[in-house]
Amino acid sequence: MTEPKLPLLTRHFSLAELTVTNTGLDNWPSDVIRARLRQLAQYLEQVRERCGGRALIITSGYRSTAVNRAVGGSPTSAHLKGYAADIRIHRGLDSDLIGAIRSVGGFDQLIYEPSRGIVHVSIDPRQRGQVKTLTARGYVNGIDNWGWHRDGGRKPPSPSR
Ligand SMILES: [Zn+2]
Repeated sequence: MTEPKLPLLTRHFSLAELTVTNTGLDNWPSDVIRARLRQLAQYLEQVRERCGGRALIITSGYRSTAVNRAVGGSPTSAHLKGYAADIRIHRGLDSDLIGAIRSVGGFDQLIYEPSRGIVHVSIDPRQRGQVKTLTARGYVNGIDNWGWHRDGGRKPPSPSR
């Protein structure tokens, strides 16, 4: 028996990366979702390029209903539709990554989550262009780089977590 192939969607992003989960639950996307993940990977390639070609680490991409429930995701999460990814930049600043996404544009939501050290980006076709930060007090508009500090939050976790 051979393992199922998890092919590259674009030069730097694979289907395995965009369906990653540590829940052990089934997270295989439908054809429709796979097509969206390819679009998402193409988007992430542009972001990667604006980050000077530094690697982007995807901590969550597509989530099946079961996976989304297990990780406490919103029931209307763009992750369920294959439109969203939570990412970190390898050896770079969060602000570089955020700046890169803003300069590429074409997103529906950019949500900075400093307590988790990730940036959520969604390319849902609604294209609302919303930019928010998740702080200890909830979502605030715009980027609040020091929110986690002021709120007594922990330092963002290291990428190995
Ligand atoms: Zn997310």
